Amino acid sequence: MAKKIAKLTLTAAGLAGAGAAVILTKKKQEKETAAKYANRTKNYRNTELGRHEKNSKGIYYTNGNYEAFARPEKPEGVDNKNAYIVGGGLASLAAACFLVRDGQMPGSHIHILEAMGIAGGACDGIYEPDRGYIMRGGREMENHFECLWDLFHSIPSLEKPGASVLDEFYWLNKHDPNYSMCRATVRRGKDAHTDGKFNLSQKGCMEIVKLFMTKDEDLYDKTIEDVFDDEVFNSTFWLYWRTMFAFENWHSALEMKLYFQRFIHHIAGLPDFSALKFTRYNQYESLILPMQKYLEDAGVDFRFDTEVTNVRFDIEGNKKVAAAIEYNANGTEQEIPLTENDLVFVTNGSCTEGTVYGDQNHAPDDNAEVRTSGCWNLWKNIAKQDPAFGHPEKFCSDIAKTNWESATITTLDDKIIPYITKICKRDPRTGKVVTGGIVSCMDSKWLMSWTINRQGQFKEQDPEKVCVWVYGLFTDVPGDYVKKTMRECTGKEITEEWLYHIGVPVEEIPDLAENSAVCVPTMMPYITAFFMPRAKGDRPDVIPDGCVNFAFLGQFAETPRDTVFTTEYSVRTAMEAVYGLLGVDRGVPEVWGSVYDVRELLESSVCLMDGKSPLEVELPGPLNLLKKPLLKAIRGTVVEKILRDHGIIRLGML
Ligand SMILES: Cc1cc2nc3c(=O)[nH]c(=O)nc-3n(C[C@H](O)[C@H](O)[C@H](O)COP(=O)(O)OP(=O)(O)OC[C@H]3O[C@@H](n4cnc5c(N)ncnc54)[C@H](O)[C@@H]3O)c2cc1C
Repeated sequence: MAKKIAKLTLTAAGLAGAGAAVILTKKKQEKETAAKYANRTKNYRNTELGRHEKNSKGIYYTNGNYEAFARPEKPEGVDNKNAYIVGGGLASLAAACFLVRDGQMPGSHIHILEAMGIAGGACDGIYEPDRGYIMRGGREMENHFECLWDLFHSIPSLEKPGASVLDEFYWLNKHDPNYSMCRATVRRGKDAHTDGKFNLSQKGCMEIVKLFMTKDEDLYDKTIEDVFDDEVFNSTFWLYWRTMFAFENWHSALEMKLYFQRFIHHIAGLPDFSALKFTRYNQYESLILPMQKYLEDAGVDFRFDTEVTNVRFDIEGNKKVAAAIEYNANGTEQEIPLTENDLVFVTNGSCTEGTVYGDQNHAPDDNAEVRTSGCWNLWKNIAKQDPAFGHPEKFCSDIAKTNWESATITTLDDKIIPYITKICKRDPRTGKVVTGGIVSCMDSKWLMSWTINRQGQFKEQDPEKVCVWVYGLFTDVPGDYVKKTMRECTGKEITEEWLYHIGVPVEEIPDLAENSAVCVPTMMPYITAFFMPRAKGDRPDVIPDGCVNFAFLGQFAETPRDTVFTTEYSVRTAMEAVYGLLGVDRGVPEVWGSVYDVRELLESSVCLMDGKSPLEVELPGPLNLLKKPLLKAIRGTVVEKILRDHGIIRLGML
């Protein structure tokens, strides 16, 4: 007993000591910061010089038209350099385009090494004669994809002579704006009448505001469940959010916060998807093919069926030089020796890695075809060489938490069309917006959502056929009609479950699923790998510290403020990588700054409370009393005008 007491006393003393040490360190830090600022004030000089100095990665961020329209000078020494780009997805193609357009590197010096036999990676859309049409996803896009539109305003459209891909997209979305007329259904196809509301309680709103205010570092390795409770999870807001962005409750709280901040200007457009814009065709045809053509015209060297297995580094002190690329092509191991004049760009990780392809009569199970690129293996081999190269295992080790499944259902006749039209209130065969974003079946055990984008989604598609994209967030629970988990289902069974949820009479379901549609399921084990909880350093920087000829691209590379699971993120990392490594002297457009725009903040706060002013919220006693004097103080000022303009101060409040 005496021993125990002694031990406890020691522990308590230890804790007290540790507590004191923490307080001392904090005090020391505060003192140092105060001294730093005092010094800065002493030597202060008003100037804008240095505002656009490059950071340690060789880039700077800007905004506005001045830099948007400027063309950078040709970087020094570019004609003596080569670029090896690992992966042929959007990020890699974007990097190649920036090398050609802004870096002015000769196309023949750019080599794209892609494991698959086709470019595009996750940005897909293909017709396979023995399966049918396949789109693993459909890309919701927005006007503030700053780097992406910066790129696509230079890529010629394949559809409209003389126009860019941006022009084509802009005109299309002007003439045919996207919005939904039925965001969610219940009870087999009945409108759930979410009616543009978030239905958040005051406590739920406060949980969101609290997350919004939390520093990144305080959210490291935390899950959404750590920061929200049922006040948010039971709201319509959460239904919209998780089905639209594919967040699960166990995903990263940090990523949730970044999303909320990144898209704060779109809060009003979340419930009916008026925030969103879509391409005319699937994104392989509308985005990837024009880029590929641009690069082929420039003479870029595409090497398909080439799996890179490692990049070997020479590391001396902090300096890291990529010294060789090891790869496998035609069944043989080969390597490319590198010098500092050879720039290497690697897309590390992929959300569509290991996709399992089923078909109408086969589930995407153990016997089905799996397509792999070796991306995790490559990243692991690189990561072994230096801590600056990140921690792939944080993202790719728990497929139970990172998978979901999508399916492409193609209708073969007009029997299913009336059920679709009844829900989305538009004929799917007009070539215009149809569902205007996903329709979520709220009471579906799989949490199934489905969408029909402008038809034909494929240029060569029969105009009478309709391609429907379906996905389920929960793949391991039995369905409502089909008593199997989604991942155990064949294409036909997935169609049956969908037909059930859009209200087809039960007795007609088997026949329609068999004869009026064909369906290709795709199980994606890592589709939300980038949403796994993470901490600083898990994702490597685009240009890891000390790298002179190497950069990471894509969804698992770190760039501040932007959000993964977006096409923009892939293009942004590509731009930063090329500008930084090649020394392109032009600003990278910063992530749209709406989170710093007081107008957006005011408006979004009203939206979140379904039209209520934050001033109408009951605050704890004494705080409530402060409202009147504060309002009096701002009367007649611009602050009053802003608050009135954005719905915070209303009639009778002053
Ligand atoms: C179902 C789904 C829905 C989506 N929804 C949206 C959306 O609504 N809005 C939006 O903006 N974005 C969306 N996206 C995301 C967007 O499509 C992707 O983020 C983007 O296409 C990723 O491009 P990437 O080039 O960074 O990576 P990837 O496309 O994954 O490309 C990586 C490429 O590298 C190759 N590769 C990997 N390892 C190796 C190796 N060792 N050797 C050689 N090659 C290798 C792969 O084969 C692949 O081609 C969605 C994606 C999916 C799948």
